[in-house]
Amino acid sequence: MTVQVHHFINGEFVAGEGKTQIPVTNPADNSVIATLNVANDAEISQAIISAQAAFCHWRTVPVSERARLMLRYQHLLKQHHDELATILAQETGKTFEDARGDVWRGIEVVEHAANIASLMMGETVENVASGIDSYSIVQPLGVCFGITPFNFPAMIPLWMFPIAIACGNSFILKPSEQDPITPTRLAELFAEAGAPSGILQVLHGDKSVVERLINDPQVKTVSFVGSVAVGQQVYRQATEQLKRAQVFAGAKNHCVIMPDANKTQVINQLVGAAVGAAGQRCMAISVAVFVGQSYSWVEELRAALSKVTPGLWNDSNAAFGPLISPAAKVRVLRLIESGKAEGATCLLDGSAAVVTGYEQGNWVGPTLFTDVTTEMSLYREEIFGPVLCCLHVDTLDEAIALVNANPYGNGTSIFTASGAAAHQYQQQVEVGQVGINVPIPVPLPFFSFTGWKGSFYGDQHAYGKQAVRFYTETKTVTSRWFADDVVSSPNMTISLK
Ligand code: NAD
Repeated sequence: MTVQVHHFINGEFVAGEGKTQIPVTNPADNSVIATLNVANDAEISQAIISAQAAFCHWRTVPVSERARLMLRYQHLLKQHHDELATILAQETGKTFEDARGDVWRGIEVVEHAANIASLMMGETVENVASGIDSYSIVQPLGVCFGITPFNFPAMIPLWMFPIAIACGNSFILKPSEQDPITPTRLAELFAEAGAPSGILQVLHGDKSVVERLINDPQVKTVSFVGSVAVGQQVYRQATEQLKRAQVFAGAKNHCVIMPDANKTQVINQLVGAAVGAAGQRCMAISVAVFVGQSYSWVEELRAALSKVTPGLWNDSNAAFGPLISPAAKVRVLRLIESGKAEGATCLLDGSAAVVTGYEQGNWVGPTLFTDVTTEMSLYREEIFGPVLCCLHVDTLDEAIALVNANPYGNGTSIFTASGAAAHQYQQQVEVGQVGINVPIPVPLPFFSFTGWKGSFYGDQHAYGKQAVRFYTETKTVTSRWFADDVVSSPNMTISLK
């Protein structure tokens, strides 16, 4: 029996009357587990009207009340942590522990949103001129819109709506149509936490829903996380409409391995960072750059990778799950074949991997290439699968030049025992999130998620102080009070002297 995924419009969960239906499949066997109706024009209009009405009230609610909603929500999310992880694992194929991590990284953002009062404080300067004070206040914008990808269906929606709503906005979420059940459950729990009707709306669907919302004049901001091609299109469309936009796009994350690094750590960490979540993380390491002698460790890396296998979400021996869709598998297999055809050496080939009893699933096993060059499609394109490409250079300077020449700049890491090498890397690398002996340096929510170059379009990044700036506007007040002012009413006159 398949589940009908519901929209969340004006405080009600509704199946919707949109005529286009999209099946939601289990990536482990491609069976249909749910169906959604793409939101139609009337439903989108209703969500926008309701979100605008909710905003008009919500913006007047005291900031500490808004913070308390986040505290209650955080508490509920923790209570439902395993339930959410189970739903998430079933629709994405992620292992249960990985799914728990997806939910947990979102809960941390909700915790951060509960501190909203201190994040929204303005500034004051007394006596900017004789008897005149100036101060700034931070105000919400209105209806904010977020479009999220399949690969973190809990964490990425939670990067967006808790901060936007804590700031006093209302929010419309368009989750990925590939795993919409988790974000819908997040919305149910938000309502259960006491969120007023209309401040969060969830509209399911595809491109048509996104375009309609970006073009609506009542929608004030656009946040997008997803692929490069779609991200660029969304950014162009949103800025064409003169909207505030932030777009988090694709990546190609390099790990630089210095010869003085701890070999055991490097190999263990690279395995997890390259094939964890089947490589479907925007911060996954997809390129290992070995400097000097460290290249001789490749054989041990191959041996370690060959021991990990994909499997079902509830198989505790599985290192990772299937790819999200048959189309994703076709893309990854095409890139593996292109690597072989273009002259790279495939030391480990996961193309033929299957899980017994689930032969129809989108499985790809760990795959390792050496002799990769920067001209190959394997290097130039985002693979988004459990495939690691190894390159070899002689010096740290060459490694930095190689990373900086790449058009993406989401995350990178260096493994070394040298503080000087780590400092040089941190200072010179043109990537927004740097790990030093840490393979996947995702910042906690009191910082921001700061991808650079082709991995990000916009100005203010996700969560942290930057998200508060993104979801608010600053108003500066200049004020003077005259000592001989008189306040009068029909019945009385009060002298302020
Ligand atoms: P995607 O671009 O296919 O889809 C993302 C969202 O955009 C979905 O909600 C989808 O319905 C919608 N969409 C798809 N086509 C559209 C169109 N033509 N117009 C408007 N909206 C459209 O991405 P995905 O496959 O779901 O996610 C994987 C990608 O996301 C990878 O490239 C990954 O690197 C990237 N990602 C980036 C970050 C980051 O922080 N930089 C984080 C997570 C994922």
